[in-house]
Amino acid sequence: MKKDRIMVRYGELSTKGKNRKNFIDALAKNIKRMLKDFERLTYEVRRDHIYIELNDESCEQIEERLKKVPGLYSFSYVYRLDNNLEEMKKAALEILLEEKKKTFKVRSKRTDKSFPYVSDEINRAIAGYVLTHSDYKVDVHQPEILLSLTVREDYTYLYTSDIRGLGGYPLGIQGKAMMMLSGGIDSPVACYYMLKRGIKIECVHFASPPYTAEGVITKIKNLLEVLNIYQEKILLHIVPFTKLQEEIYRVAGTSYAITIMRRMMYRIAESLAEKRNCFVLGNGESIGQVASQTLVSLKEIERVTHLPVIRPLACVDKVDIIETAKQIGTYDISIRPFEDCCTIFEPKNVTTAPHPNRIEKIENSFDWKTLVEECIENIETMEIEKDKKEDHFF
Ligand code: ATP
Ligand code: MG
Repeated sequence: MKKDRIMVRYGELSTKGKNRKNFIDALAKNIKRMLKDFERLTYEVRRDHIYIELNDESCEQIEERLKKVPGLYSFSYVYRLDNNLEEMKKAALEILLEEKKKTFKVRSKRTDKSFPYVSDEINRAIAGYVLTHSDYKVDVHQPEILLSLTVREDYTYLYTSDIRGLGGYPLGIQGKAMMMLSGGIDSPVACYYMLKRGIKIECVHFASPPYTAEGVITKIKNLLEVLNIYQEKILLHIVPFTKLQEEIYRVAGTSYAITIMRRMMYRIAESLAEKRNCFVLGNGESIGQVASQTLVSLKEIERVTHLPVIRPLACVDKVDIIETAKQIGTYDISIRPFEDCCTIFEPKNVTTAPHPNRIEKIENSFDWKTLVEECIENIETMEIEKDKKEDHFF
């Protein structure tokens, strides 16, 4: 039998009413965008599932893309039948014979209560038919094939596959976050977790030329192009950070420079987030990873912003972050050897427990507000969209 349809499940969308409708609409829109190259597909968006009719489009590529849609819990190839027990038996046998395995189990569900047989009767009728017409055996504990069947008001759906998707929520449902994106391994992974949760992102990058190579910006753009699979267009804000950073290193001394620098980054990111209507800041900080990411450091750094700071990697080990980076395809780009402004200025004796009085004293010793203002005024913004040659400057 030909695989002619895909049934998409929503997973975590346990909300009801209007919200649920918004979720489903957003998910359907994202699925259609992800599959827009497959022009023959047709869609049926329902309360509990989305059905995609394949119309002879290639399954493999569609499968790979569906696995990247946030908010999609799982999907199955389904066969649609009329609500007729004889048809169900024949279809079940045909599918099992094609699969060429030895054991099976039937699991049916009836949402159409007017269908004259209860689930148990459907299971028995189908299993009995298969047993008499093939060499298949029933194995209720560990069947090689689980044949699922759902009898709905209009049609019956039969399927043997259940492919896990990304989970999370449809993109756009939660609003936007301003993500701090360095050229490293962690921050693109942090962006990925936000996107998977349905949060749209804009990114801010602090650049310190000539200390940082021009190649860093290309690297950042390439990282965002990988993330474009989840979000079609991503705004990148590049902050000219050199002057402020030089001044910080002049006044702060090596042990406090990073603390002060990160406080400035947070201040600039917050200002940008508020201008751009982002509800939260996000970054790739991971507790304990470096001196500026101890709990004491995080507390003293985060103090400068009123916005919530989301750190998807706060409690994730580096090996696991690396594994995810490889899976999503950002790792090879992240490890390209370009210095970024943190590594180039990285002093040896960074404090792991900055003291608020000392921070205050340093910050009172120079006119950082003017320098921060200058950074904000000179931000360069561009839109990153994969396969689009030109950037749009604002
Ligand atoms: P990553 O953490 O992405 O691997 P990194 O290790 O160089 O890069 P850290 O020093 O660990 O960066 O900084 C922690 C977080 O601060 C980063 O994950 C990123 O979110 C943010 N960050 C650091 N440097 C920059 C920068 N130049 N521009 C924007 N954000 C930055
Ligand atoms: Mg890091």
